[in-house]
Amino acid sequence: MLLITCPWCGPRAQIEFTYGGDAGKARPADPDALSDAEWHEHLYLRDNRKGPHDELWQHSGGCRSWFKARRDTRNHDILATGPVDADFDSTGSDET
Ligand SMILES: [Zn+2]
Repeated sequence: MLLITCPWCGPRAQIEFTYGGDAGKARPADPDALSDAEWHEHLYLRDNRKGPHDELWQHSGGCRSWFKARRDTRNHDILATGPVDADFDSTGSDET
């Protein structure tokens, strides 16, 4: 059974969680300046990265909080979890 560590509740079964998408995709700073092609790219196109990838998850079957997880797409290992604004590269304190 895959366990995911909610930053607030601790380790729980994966079935309690809902995937929320790529955590590295920032909303455009000036939305009115984007062309239709740039909006298409922002809304629909994603990297299909092999290796560690930062994602948003919700503990939908628990505290319902959103958080960030770094998951290795090669083997689905959860390498770290933390608040949505966690910076796993600089602190290392959110490692699970
Ligand atoms: Zn939770």
